[in-house]
Amino acid sequence: MNNNQHITPDILIVGAGISGIALARLLAEKDYSVLVIDKRPHIGGNCYDYKDENGIIIHKYGPHIFRTDNKEVWQFLSRFTEWQEYKHKVRAIIDSKEVPIPFNFTSIDILFDAQKAKIFEEKLISKYGENKKIPILKLKQSTDKDLQELAAFVYEKVFYHYTLKQWGLKPEELDGDALARVPVYTSYYDGYFTEKYQAIPKNGYTKMFENILKHPNIKVQLNTDFKDLKNIKYKNLFYSGPIDEYFDHKLGPLPYRSLNFEFKTLPQKQFQDVAVVNYTGQEPYTRITEFKHFLNEETSSTTIAYEYPSAFELGKNERYYPIPKQENEQLYKRYLELAGKEKNIYFIGRLGEYKYYSMHSAVAAIFELVKKFAT
Ligand code: UDP
Repeated sequence: MNNNQHITPDILIVGAGISGIALARLLAEKDYSVLVIDKRPHIGGNCYDYKDENGIIIHKYGPHIFRTDNKEVWQFLSRFTEWQEYKHKVRAIIDSKEVPIPFNFTSIDILFDAQKAKIFEEKLISKYGENKKIPILKLKQSTDKDLQELAAFVYEKVFYHYTLKQWGLKPEELDGDALARVPVYTSYYDGYFTEKYQAIPKNGYTKMFENILKHPNIKVQLNTDFKDLKNIKYKNLFYSGPIDEYFDHKLGPLPYRSLNFEFKTLPQKQFQDVAVVNYTGQEPYTRITEFKHFLNEETSSTTIAYEYPSAFELGKNERYYPIPKQENEQLYKRYLELAGKEKNIYFIGRLGEYKYYSMHSAVAAIFELVKKFAT
């Protein structure tokens, strides 16, 4: 007998990732009874973290760095965790030298002689202004000869191979927004992000999610696949699984990218200076993450992960990224039309909305949804 037969929540949320979890809490606080199910044995979706045998908090599905300009999102999450302030810095090895990513004036100074560097920096400022963020594809459109030279260099050394590895696509085959996440800075600013609030939950994301779910109106059931819940009743369904899977891929599968991580524990205090080093050349991995930097953990050994992108294959690996490409967006919209014909179902999150959400934008989208759903 299915042990869900006697539960009739107002709300069923499929998927205990950050979107489902934030939604569960907001609706629970509006007196809805909420059941959250997830087919995995843990909450948190791909934001899940855990403490490994060396006492280091590991992001199982790759580095997650929280940042936002949205005060409402920040204040909401801050009810459930203390934060460790953390300014994310990323480096790449270019021409055998370690330089900041996003590519900035320091990167230019390291890689070019002083005279050339001065020309590039002055021209960047006169064309775009100081402290600006310029997407590489925009910089490439410049008609100035020096800026064209710089753009061609950055395109080749930072974006071309990395993007080919990450997506199986060339930079111009992707929607511009994806690449614009990592622009060229017209300044010496060396943070990966520019948002006002940047931090990591002091006891990890999973702990913060546990606290969010601690509410009398919320029940969580793990190891539970929606497809196996034959007898469950609910008033509204919020589905954060893949929208194409919900409809049995009847319009064809939406493509996703997957990742494979190779974790290594090393008997040394530190492996690299910063949490993430991007490998922007032809090595098979895109980045190496050293986890202890996120929470500044003091340990005698260290854990690192090599990140290898790959195509998503049903049943073989996990979905990580919707692929931001126009034809995929169009297929998604056709699925959305099907969804519009169903009653009381909402698709949410990276997989439900087929959208390359960052954590904060996923939570912000839930705030908007709740404003519409439960006024
Ligand atoms: N990117 C790149 N080289 C880099 C960093 C980023 O080509 O050194 C491109 C790449 O296409 C990547 C996208 O910019 O997928 C967004 O990068 P981000 O670091 O935001 O990716 P995420 O952390 O979400 O995987």
